[in-house]
Amino acid sequence: MLPTQVQLESKPCPICVKLDDQIILTRRDHLHNLPGEFTVVRCWNYSLMRTNPLPTPETIEFYYPDDDGPYKQSKISSKSLSEDSKLLWKRLVKNFLEFEFNQNKLPDLAPSRMLEVGCASGKFLHQMANRGWEVEGIKFSETASEVAHSLGYKVHTGSLETAPEPEQKYDLVVAWMVLEHLHDPILVLKKLHNWVAPDGWLVLSVPNGASWDFSLFKNAWYSLHFPHHLYHYTPQTLGTILELSGCKMTCVLHQRFLYDLIASMGYSLEDRGYKN
Ligand SMILES: [Zn+2]
Repeated sequence: MLPTQVQLESKPCPICVKLDDQIILTRRDHLHNLPGEFTVVRCWNYSLMRTNPLPTPETIEFYYPDDDGPYKQSKISSKSLSEDSKLLWKRLVKNFLEFEFNQNKLPDLAPSRMLEVGCASGKFLHQMANRGWEVEGIKFSETASEVAHSLGYKVHTGSLETAPEPEQKYDLVVAWMVLEHLHDPILVLKKLHNWVAPDGWLVLSVPNGASWDFSLFKNAWYSLHFPHHLYHYTPQTLGTILELSGCKMTCVLHQRFLYDLIASMGYSLEDRGYKN
């Protein structure tokens, strides 16, 4: 049953603007065990997978009970998992795996001007500032840590739509695990494309809907993040979306998130009736 405060809308594929889809899977919210079931569909024409119908932008906050907003970076998994991973050893393993393997990759660039979209606590801004970058951020929730502000970084709080146009374009714009949360990814990518200097870089990370993990775990795949993730990109569909936004995809790198694998195995076992 869908809670009364949530409204769903059916949106066509943003590439072909059609509702011409194949149903891939259905699943409930697994992050917070909130009511409601969601379906992933795949467009027959362009293969883009999306959650449809999906909660409207005005009501999707219901599925973010921590009030941390629909745009977050790696904090998404940290927060959600720390809640359902109540045992200390689980937290220790998770922290170790994140530390060991979850390094965001960047082109080899000389420090210049950078914007991070979805900068949350400001951890990445701080890392880049320490490497000589002039950093700015956009965070989407007041509840995210105020560390970035307290360290003196320029951070806009609010949606991308309300973010002021930069006085000067950025040489690097990064968005770690943000794009899959956006209701209108093409609109946002067009805006970001416009904010990047002509020789600059837009660097994104998204879960890989073409990964073997997804093929193996299907609706128990941890990175579905239902219903937070509205689009489930593959390198091919991401390339198409970027192209439509005026960007050119030049490089695809794969990251291995070992904790996601463990979490998927956990979901899979839970679905089979095992409880921890
Ligand atoms: Zn389509």
